Amino acid sequence: MTWLEVTLALAVTMLAVFLFRQLREFGKLKRWASQSRLSDPPEAGGSWGEVFNLLHRHRRATLRRRRELAQLMVRSRRGAQALPYGVAVLDADYRLDWCNEAAREHLGLDPERDRKQAIVNVVRAPEFVEYLRAADFSEPVRLDAPGSRRTLSLQIVSFGVEEHLLLSQDVTGAARVEAMRRDFVANVSHELRTPLTVLAGFLETIQDLKLDASRVRDYVGLMAPQAERMKRLIDDLLTLSSLEHAPPPPLAERIALRPLLERVRSEAAGLSGGKHRISLEAAAGYDLLGAESEIASAFVNLVSNAVRYTPAGGEIRLLWTAADAGAEFSVEDTGIGIDPDHLPRLTERFYRVDRGRSRETGGTGLGLSIVKHALARHQAVLAIESTPGKGSRFSARFPAARLAAARQTVEG
Ligand code: ADP
Repeated sequence: MTWLEVTLALAVTMLAVFLFRQLREFGKLKRWASQSRLSDPPEAGGSWGEVFNLLHRHRRATLRRRRELAQLMVRSRRGAQALPYGVAVLDADYRLDWCNEAAREHLGLDPERDRKQAIVNVVRAPEFVEYLRAADFSEPVRLDAPGSRRTLSLQIVSFGVEEHLLLSQDVTGAARVEAMRRDFVANVSHELRTPLTVLAGFLETIQDLKLDASRVRDYVGLMAPQAERMKRLIDDLLTLSSLEHAPPPPLAERIALRPLLERVRSEAAGLSGGKHRISLEAAAGYDLLGAESEIASAFVNLVSNAVRYTPAGGEIRLLWTAADAGAEFSVEDTGIGIDPDHLPRLTERFYRVDRGRSRETGGTGLGLSIVKHALARHQAVLAIESTPGKGSRFSARFPAARLAAARQTVEG
C-alpha cells in the first residue's frame, strides 16, 4: 500500500467515524425533541451540547409561555363568568364562539349547541335583528327576555380584527322604575288638569259675562273646592316626597302615644261631622319611637279613609294594642269594604277602587301610599282585611325595636 492509499484510507475512516457520531447525536436530538414532555437534554459534548442546551432553554421558555397563556385564558373566562353582564364572543360574521353563564341565562344561548350559529338565529327578537341590520351599535337596544318577564339591554362592542362582544344586562328594575315615573307624571298631570280646567272655565265665564256680584260669589263658591282639591293633591305629593327624601326617623325620639291617639280621634270626629260612632281603645304601657309627624300622618290617613268610605250611621273603632313583641294600631270600620282583588294594589299611588267616590269625598289617591311609606320608615307594615259590604280593618304593625315603655300609666 502506498503512502497515498494509507492516507486516504485513514481519512475515509475518520470521516466515517465523524459522520457516525453526527448521526448518533442527531438521532438523540430527534428522539429527545419528539418527546411530548419536557425532559433534560441528552448528554452531549462540544457543539452538540451547546445546541441541546439552547434548544432546551427555548423549549422551556415556550412551554412556560404556553402555560401562562392557558392560565390567562382560564382567568379571563373565569372573570367573564363572574361578570354581572352576559358576555358572548362573536366572530366577524356575528357567529357565536363562546358565552358566559349570564348570557346563557339571559338569552338562552348554549355555548356548545349554538357554537358557530349566526346569533340572529338564536336571539330572534325583532328589535335585536333590526339592531344588527342597522349596525349602529353606539347605543344599546332593549328587549323582553325570551321566555321570561324580564327586560334586557343588549349592546354590541367590536374589538380586535372584526370580532364582537355581545353584552347583555338585566334592566328589569330600571325599566319598572322608568315606567312608574312615566305613569306617575301622567297621573299627576291628569289629576291637576281636571280641577284646573274647571277653574279656567269659571274664570272665563266671569270675565266674559257681565255678572252681578251675587252670581260672581256663586261662581267663586264653586271654584273654591277645585282649588282646595289641587291644594290637597300638592300637599300629599309634598308629603310623599319628603317621606322619600328625609333622613331615617330617629330611634331615640319618643312619641307620646295617648295624646297622639286622642288627636287622631278628634280629627276623625271632625271629618265625620257626627255621622259615625267613633271609639278609641288603647292599651297602656308603650310609646312609639320615631318621627311623630310621620306617624300622625299615617294614622290620620287611615281614619280619614274609614270616615270617607263608611256610610253615615256606621261605626269606626280605633284600637291600640302593645306588648313586648310589638304593637298594632288598627282602624276598623263598618263601611263599604273592598273586593279582595284590589287589596294587593291599594297602596300604589293613585290606585282607587272607585275613582268617582274617592274624588267626591276629597280623596287624592295618595293616602295609603303615604301610610305605607311612613310605616316602612319605622320598619312597620300595613295589613288590610276587608269584606265587601261589611267593612275593613287597616292595621299598622310595629316591631319591638320601635317601642318604649310609656312614661306615665295610660288608661284605656
Ligand atoms: P283615596 O284618596 O282615593 O282614598 P287612598 O290611597 O287613601 O286614596 O286609598 C286608595 C283606595 O283604597 C281608595 O280609593 C278606596 O277605594 C280604597 N280604600 C281605602 N280605605 C278604605 C276603607 N276604609 N274602606 C273602603 N275602601 C277603602
